[in-house]
Amino acid sequence: MTPNTESNESLFARAQRVIPGGVNSPVRAFRAVGGTPCFVKRAQGACFWDEEDKRYIDYIGSWGPMILGHGHPAVVDAVRAAALEGFSFGAPTRREVELAETLLALVPSMDMVRLVSSGTEAAMTAIRLARGATGRSKFIKFEGCYHGHADALLVKAGSGLATFGNPTSAGVPPEVVRHTLALEYNNLEQLEQAFAMHGAALACVVIEPIAGNMNFVRASVPFIRRCRELCSASGALLVFDEVMTGCRVALGSAQSLYARDIPGFEPDITILGKVIGGGMPLAAFGGKRAIMEQLAPLGPVYQAGTLSGNPVATACGLATLREISRPGFFEELSATTRALVDGLQGAADAAGVPFCGDCEGGMFGFFLLDALPQNYGQVMRTDNTRFNRLFHGMLERGSYFAPALYEAGFVSAAHTRADIANTVNAAAEVFRTM
Ligand SMILES: *Cc1c(COP(=O)(O)O)cnc(C)c1O
Repeated sequence: MTPNTESNESLFARAQRVIPGGVNSPVRAFRAVGGTPCFVKRAQGACFWDEEDKRYIDYIGSWGPMILGHGHPAVVDAVRAAALEGFSFGAPTRREVELAETLLALVPSMDMVRLVSSGTEAAMTAIRLARGATGRSKFIKFEGCYHGHADALLVKAGSGLATFGNPTSAGVPPEVVRHTLALEYNNLEQLEQAFAMHGAALACVVIEPIAGNMNFVRASVPFIRRCRELCSASGALLVFDEVMTGCRVALGSAQSLYARDIPGFEPDITILGKVIGGGMPLAAFGGKRAIMEQLAPLGPVYQAGTLSGNPVATACGLATLREISRPGFFEELSATTRALVDGLQGAADAAGVPFCGDCEGGMFGFFLLDALPQNYGQVMRTDNTRFNRLFHGMLERGSYFAPALYEAGFVSAAHTRADIANTVNAAAEVFRTM
């Protein structure tokens, strides 16, 4: 190991002089929890080490992609071999075909898929495709769901269902979000009203089926069923944003879980990212053939990308998907994640701290609340001061959770029961001080 030469503190000071906020994605700056972010030097398996050579058990996994843990040998080999063959060609490659075939096999609601480089790009294009395919402009999203940072998606609810959204970011003109209707997640009544008022003008409903960008909130089965029925009846498309849940909560993604309760259930368009790239910049969107054929060069909906289907990224994604497709992979991952959530619950109960958690596959969430929240407003009732104390207590003890109470957590196949026990013991200590 190289000797420690620079503290997190001094790196952060340097970073803040040359990068806005010192980070290249805002949540990394620890603004919500305070303190100095860890500058990661390297990672292996379930752990990473910061520049001060302190080790952490990693429950973020790059915000979802690292489902096998860090440095999985089969993935590293695939990436190394691909890098030697060339970084990027701007011409089609065999692995793009193989990855597309693999994704269609895993998520059979998709007949065709296009590869892009980020979830933002995939979601932005999925909305454009839905609008282009239906010839309609308006669409519904839900508060607390994140679909990347395309202008039309940075919206919060307006003052009523008749008024459309307001931008949540400076630099987004109100006209750009004029067609975006932001509704409360899991609110059937609002959904019905919105379709009654705007159904014939709606291009799509876009939803995170398990909302990982408000920690971990499931869309109820009746809510998803009604989304499907209303979309079908009005000619709108149902768009599942599975950038986070895709190949993470189950091999077949969250839609495979809803299909157990809603026979024949399928979204029209699926957005994927994170796990399918295994830690490399890779995302995708796909859907029914008639919809996907609207994309250039076949149809009038434009989309392109210099690095789309990048040969090193596709190698990484393919190797990752191969590993997670092994029999028993998700059973074992789910059991590990469940052990973490149950362990934390037990520790909180013993200390008398209000706590509830949920998980699916390798994704989990927990709240310092007495009951699982159903929407963004309820998530935000969590006591921020308490959450921050928990976060920093765990960080000090070497367990790295998301530095914001509205973010999901992730367990990888590299997490052992000893890692989980270590984290649960640390949590028991921290809960006793709360
Ligand atoms: C992460 C995420 C995105 C955005 O993906 P990026 O690759 O960060 O642009 C979109 N939708 C969901 C549900 C996500 O979790």
